[in-house]
Amino acid sequence: STAALAPQICVVGSGPAGFYTAQHLLKHHRLARVDIYEKLPVPFGLVRFGVAPDHPEVKNVINTFTQTAHSDRCAYYGNVTIGKDVMVKELQRAYHAVVLSYGAEDNRILGIPGENLSGVYSARAFVGWYNGLPENRDLKPDLSSETAVVLGQGNVALDVARVLLSPLDILRKTDITEGSLAAIACSKVKRVWLVGRRGPLQVAFTIKELREMINLPGTRPLLDPADFTGLGDVIKDIPRPRKRLTELMIKSAREKPGEKEAALWASATKEWGLKFQRSPLEVLPATDGKQARGIRMAVTRLEGSGESARAVPTGEVEELECGLILSSIGYRSLPLDSSIPFDPKLGIIPNSLGRVQGAPGLYCSGWVKRGPTGVIITTMNDSFDTAQSVLEDLQTGVLNLSNSKEGFKSVRSILHSRGVHPVTFSDWEKIDAAEVARGKLAGKPREKIVDPQEMLQLISL
Ligand code: FAD
Repeated sequence: STAALAPQICVVGSGPAGFYTAQHLLKHHRLARVDIYEKLPVPFGLVRFGVAPDHPEVKNVINTFTQTAHSDRCAYYGNVTIGKDVMVKELQRAYHAVVLSYGAEDNRILGIPGENLSGVYSARAFVGWYNGLPENRDLKPDLSSETAVVLGQGNVALDVARVLLSPLDILRKTDITEGSLAAIACSKVKRVWLVGRRGPLQVAFTIKELREMINLPGTRPLLDPADFTGLGDVIKDIPRPRKRLTELMIKSAREKPGEKEAALWASATKEWGLKFQRSPLEVLPATDGKQARGIRMAVTRLEGSGESARAVPTGEVEELECGLILSSIGYRSLPLDSSIPFDPKLGIIPNSLGRVQGAPGLYCSGWVKRGPTGVIITTMNDSFDTAQSVLEDLQTGVLNLSNSKEGFKSVRSILHSRGVHPVTFSDWEKIDAAEVARGKLAGKPREKIVDPQEMLQLISL
């Protein structure tokens, strides 16, 4: 019968990777059913909990994801942690194919003394805090010092610096949580250094984010012209995006600002800057032995050139005073359970075109497949590739549809027996409506609910 030929597929994780994989499967197979499992009650992964609050346009992808969720061949089950509430093995028994799209939920650590002093946070936790990620809602970062150091020079580092320095009037109109807005309103931070181990040609942020920073009202850039000497010649032959990015840094550092810019910078009360060729050695404790008071860094020189240049310590050391240190050196995926292949060094599930190595019927997409880099579009493309692999395996018979699979029906009974209550997409829409309504009162697009218990209560009403 037709029912027997309908592939039952599930996706683990409801970020861009999960939703784009589902979208492609539903679009290109007219019978496929796709269930999306998510550990939080609410969907969309880093689109909700990563993307900066002052970048609402980036979150428009949610409209597309919502359309996918509304397909009658797609279902969303939030509040279900795979690897804990349901095992991957159990999913494999219930579905013809299982796609792991659970992202990168940890961060790389600095591995230096003092990393655990108070005043030191991962950018991941800090971003989670201002974006209402339940696990970080009680972070209470110490914003009482004037100087903050962000270790890292990627877009996440710039997001964090921007949120720390943005005028309140801008933040107030975003979906930043009210708790973090209140804390930032009392912040003493007025200077943010973004520190990189390598040079201007190796920064990982992009031009749009840099331009935003340069034009941030109330702040002025602190760029040392000496950092950019001689670069004009080098950049003649490099790819255009990096060339334009470097030109913007050179211009901001070396050229006299225009009249308008000069006036803005002169009246600025806050500032930010880039420090190059500095590698963190130690977070320095205050006299109480608990609080961070600064950071000791090795001055480096570059070996090689371009993207592959390596930072080597020169022997010279420098200290910088600061009470707030945010390490933004990258996210990291974790293995879901020991039965699934995982490459701890690369932090990814080993795969070819999304097919998990040595595990037929198991696939992966997104950050857990590629590693934690790239924007939503990159994630979309790799998720389409993975979905394509699934479709091919359906066509070639690698996935055997004559084994009929029960899909959610069998998972439902597992969840029931373990006392787990999944949240459906229409439940999420109730939470969504409540958040939007609360936001309206405050003149914000939404006021996020940060307590999962409160979310669950809201939908059981
Ligand atoms: P995620 O978005 O992390 O989704 C993974 C999902 O899986 C999460 O919902 C998680 O809760 C769920 N999950 C985890 N474990 C389990 C489990 N055991 N069981 C069930 N579910 C689980 N890109 C842009 O294009 N523009 C931007 O402005 C931008 N800003 C960013 C800002 C930050 C701070 C970060 C970190 C990234 C940003 N990105 C941006 C990149 C973009 O967010 C990623 O490319 C994309 O989110 C990766 O998608 P993913 O689905 O692989 O991972």
